[in-house]
Amino acid sequence: MKALVYHGPGEKSWEEVPDPVILKPTDAIVKIDTTTICGTDLHILKGDVPAVTPGRILGHEGVGTITEIGSAVTDLAVGDHVIISCVSACGKCDFCKRGVYSHCRADEGAPGIGWIFGHLIDGTQAEFVRVPFAETSLYRVPEGVADELAVLISDILPTGHEIGVRYGAVSPGDVVAVVGAGPVGLAAMATAGLYGPSRVIAIDTDANRVEQAKRFGATDGVVASDPDWKEQVFALTDGLGVDVAIEAVGIPATWDMSLDVVRPAGHIANVGVHGKPVEFHLEQKWIENITITTGLVNTNTSPMLIKLLAQGKLDVAGFLSHHFALSDIISAYDTFGRAAETKALKVILSA
Ligand SMILES: [Zn+2]
Ligand SMILES: [Zn+2]
Repeated sequence: MKALVYHGPGEKSWEEVPDPVILKPTDAIVKIDTTTICGTDLHILKGDVPAVTPGRILGHEGVGTITEIGSAVTDLAVGDHVIISCVSACGKCDFCKRGVYSHCRADEGAPGIGWIFGHLIDGTQAEFVRVPFAETSLYRVPEGVADELAVLISDILPTGHEIGVRYGAVSPGDVVAVVGAGPVGLAAMATAGLYGPSRVIAIDTDANRVEQAKRFGATDGVVASDPDWKEQVFALTDGLGVDVAIEAVGIPATWDMSLDVVRPAGHIANVGVHGKPVEFHLEQKWIENITITTGLVNTNTSPMLIKLLAQGKLDVAGFLSHHFALSDIISAYDTFGRAAETKALKVILSA
């Protein structure tokens, strides 16, 4: 088969590799019909994720058709059309039993981390992929849901929903600020509406992105490069700050911005993947009753999000910015890698 193989920082190629085979009775082999590229793949290509070693097939998002199942797989069948979750769950360990699949202890890749595709084992940017723990890590695509929407369930929608909105405890009437209007920030805005906030404020340095965010559920926008951006945010609250700040960038500046706008007793939900330490002045903030959460997506809300998608209750078609043939994945990487210029959100690759 053909696959997108990582060959060390800055090096990748679409090349011939051996077909994946069933290694464990709980495995399935899935033929990829649709996949996409994540910001995390770009981090890997920069060399930021040393656990990814040369020779690894990248990708952790995809929709496909089961072509083979292991002997222990009884609830799925060859021919089933499925969403591949970016997090694999054995379903049996302590963390899986609590729905914290992100820290699955199963001995596949490395025990203690549920994100293994395109990281610790070969991923989904390929014609076929081996899926461990198939029964607890694959979800059937409901009738009538297009692949290009279903693939948003692999990672981006549960990430914005679980780590941004749910960990942020967004509640009816809340004013929510989402710092960063990239794909994951937009996924948080698109799912915040499920909990009845009174306002969702998109904050970004790019005025165009702030404007676009209104298509994803933002009610207001603030351009972070405006000198009075903070006053603008406070003016959209009762003057005391936002109830929930969702950090969806992952740099010290956006962490500071989240702290700047959150009110006492508010929540900061960090979704951004940070590469550098941030400051937190506990000597000032201890008195403010703030809740701070962090996390890697669990994908435990994927079944619920799939139901909403099937009912047309999640208006997320705006995420689909570009379409490519799977064999043209190198061009897709180029377009996605220049997102500021190309306005790429999700580039969809179809077999
Ligand atoms: Zn991802
Ligand atoms: Zn587990």
